[in-house]
Amino acid sequence: MQIPGADRQFTLFFDNVRLGEDRLLGHEGQGLPQIFVGMNPERILGAALANGAALHAIDMATRYANERAVWGKPIGTHQGIAHPLAQAKVEVELARLMTMKAAWLFDHGKDAGEAANMAKYAAGEAATHAVDTAIQVHGGNGMSEEYGLVSLWGMARTLRIAPISREMILNFVSQHTLGLPKSY
Ligand SMILES: Cc1cc2nc3c(=O)[nH]c(=O)nc-3n(C[C@H](O)[C@H](O)[C@H](O)COP(=O)(O)OP(=O)(O)OC[C@H]3O[C@@H](n4cnc5c(N)ncnc54)[C@H](O)[C@@H]3O)c2cc1C
Repeated sequence: MQIPGADRQFTLFFDNVRLGEDRLLGHEGQGLPQIFVGMNPERILGAALANGAALHAIDMATRYANERAVWGKPIGTHQGIAHPLAQAKVEVELARLMTMKAAWLFDHGKDAGEAANMAKYAAGEAATHAVDTAIQVHGGNGMSEEYGLVSLWGMARTLRIAPISREMILNFVSQHTLGLPKSY
């Protein structure tokens, strides 16, 4: 099964566009703070996307590990195959909890910045690990286009960079959660 990319990218140009006052979104002079508020749902969405990719990869790999028999036993019998999958499952369930916390905070009009950042960080790491593990469990088939894991890995890996990189999340947590000096 070929899994398409999660989205398509487009460039939108606005040239000489004039709008009436009734088209104003939010409050005049508050453009930047309003954009920052909009970044939290984007991070929560990114986390949810990563969590879904991780769960899908774990599901695929678990099925494969039950079906594929080498040396007379399903490969999932071996802890070398089973434990990385179990670890990936633990990581994604923890990331999902933080994603749900962030979504709850945002939906209730509370400050979701810290939780949204933490959720996006945890989910990006969990997805990258889960998809990489699933590729390994599939052996050579993991690199085959028809299994779709390589394109899924590209998406999971992107979610460590966008919409905010893991390093900038760690900068946020260092500064705002831990109270360390700003580093940049
Ligand atoms: C598929 C995709 C879709 C995207 N879609 C959008 C979009 O719709 N809208 C949008 O606005 N942007 C979008 N982006 C951009 C994305 O938000 C940036 O790529 C991301 O924030 C990283 O910025 P950068 O690429 O400029 O990397 P840079 O800022 O050049 O950073 C390069 C590397 O250095 C690290 N780094 C930088 N500064 C520090 C520091 N102070 N401390 C530690 N490490 C640091 C970064 O974490 C990164 O690993 C998209 C990116 C991708 C890949």
